[in-house]
Amino acid sequence: MAGNLALQENWRINEGRVVGVFCFDKEFLSRDDFSVNRFQFFINTLAELKKELQELGSDLLFMDIGPQKAFPKLLKQLKKEERGLPKLMTWGVDYEPFAVKRDAEMETVFADFGVQHLSLRDHLLIQPHELSKKTGDGHYQVYTPFSRRWLQIYQEDEIQDRVKRQKVALKYLEKRLKGSVDKNFSLTWKDLLSDLSAYDSNLDEYQKKNSEKVTIDIPKGGSLEAYKQLKDFAKRISHYGDRRDNPSVDGTSKLSMFLKNGSITVPQIIAYFDFEPYQKKKSNKDTFFSELIWREFYYHILRHHPRVEKEAFLEQYKSIRWSNSKKRFQAWKDGKTGFPIVDAGMRQLKTTGWMHNRVRMIVASFLTKDLLIDWRWGEQYFMEELLDGDLAANNGGWQWAASTGCDPQPYFRIFNPWSQSKKFDPDGDYIKEFIPELKDYPVKKLHEPILGHDKYPEPIVDHSEQREKALEMYKRVRG
Ligand code: FAD
Repeated sequence: MAGNLALQENWRINEGRVVGVFCFDKEFLSRDDFSVNRFQFFINTLAELKKELQELGSDLLFMDIGPQKAFPKLLKQLKKEERGLPKLMTWGVDYEPFAVKRDAEMETVFADFGVQHLSLRDHLLIQPHELSKKTGDGHYQVYTPFSRRWLQIYQEDEIQDRVKRQKVALKYLEKRLKGSVDKNFSLTWKDLLSDLSAYDSNLDEYQKKNSEKVTIDIPKGGSLEAYKQLKDFAKRISHYGDRRDNPSVDGTSKLSMFLKNGSITVPQIIAYFDFEPYQKKKSNKDTFFSELIWREFYYHILRHHPRVEKEAFLEQYKSIRWSNSKKRFQAWKDGKTGFPIVDAGMRQLKTTGWMHNRVRMIVASFLTKDLLIDWRWGEQYFMEELLDGDLAANNGGWQWAASTGCDPQPYFRIFNPWSQSKKFDPDGDYIKEFIPELKDYPVKKLHEPILGHDKYPEPIVDHSEQREKALEMYKRVRG
């Protein structure tokens, strides 16, 4: 709760008389990138948030209609019941294209009712409009200069103040972990609406109904779980740089799904670790810090170039003629391509809702440059399966792998899935964990085509041949 600027500002102005509203827009259910599993994790998180707010003396109203309809309905009722209108409406800024449009519409709604409103920085430390080129002409499209500038701005007093303020949030989380929090708020929805049930949809019911459709174990959500994960990772951060590329060890933070839901934020993580700006030589901790900057970078790109949601960032690659074989796409999704490292990754995704970053890069390169399938197919499938599915990072990751993005790997750098496998899973532990039919297969032979196995398929393509075809495909549109 502490550390949420929208809530803090409202709390200050209204002296603790603050309540929350969550509007569930049904359009979400029909989006191409909708995921039943991610939705379950999200509503579990929401239920945790409601519990937390109630413990603190506040409340959360869950309305089962979009905000454009929900707020006029609610504000009219408050007026009718002579409760008066809210003194201030606040919310956290969202940078996704549909949200930018929605928030602009909401500003009009609140203005029409004469209600003061304010959107405040939320999960990013430095917002897209706060970071432009030093020369003043535009914004960065390449990560290295972006991160250099980001680290410069990071040292400014105002940004350091933002980080310091998050220490209060961390103290609160520590207290909550120990089970001792004071009531900070003094208003509930029961105090405001005489017929609460006409407005508050049953979140438990929603949770239960959706849980019947989920296909994986859903981890616990909420800020306390996120904080526990952060503390656990703190014990391992000194090995992050050395272990982060090995998919068989628990070397990364696994904070992504909590970041996605706002249960923890980049400013909070930075405050927890007291990051110092680094120079060229990075420590293991700095490497982790630079990954958080990658996250900010992709949000920055999405905000300045919303078109990336639908198309290649680089003009010349908009007209690539992908092969788009549905049969091969299905084999990739099912983890049955005959390339063990790719198949292990795809099965990890399907059975856990998460995939290791190194393997995300391998399977994305494989889909686009070995199977010659449009990156947008893979991007959408990831969104359907990932618990941390996030437009900015997912789009950035896919466009990077497909060489179509703002700061991509060059088109001629094509991962060799066999050598990637040998390098990053030398003992085959990761492969064997997710492909049980290869459990007893000799480790040394896992990194080459497996022929004549009674349960595991032969490779569906030849990497060297596909590599040549991919180069051709890219060269054709480069002219
Ligand atoms: P850690 O290694 O512990 O990193 C800490 C945090 O830094 C992450 O939680 C994440 O917020 C951020 N981060 C790390 N790497 C990246 C990166 N390359 N780009 C942007 N942010 C990064 N990340 C998502 O959060 N959602 C996605 O939908 C997503 N899709 C991806 C698709 C592809 C094809 C690729 C190559 C990467 C994708 N990533 C995505 C980035 C990255 O793989 C995940 O953030 C990371 O694996 C999450 O695990 P972690 O929290 O243990 O990461």
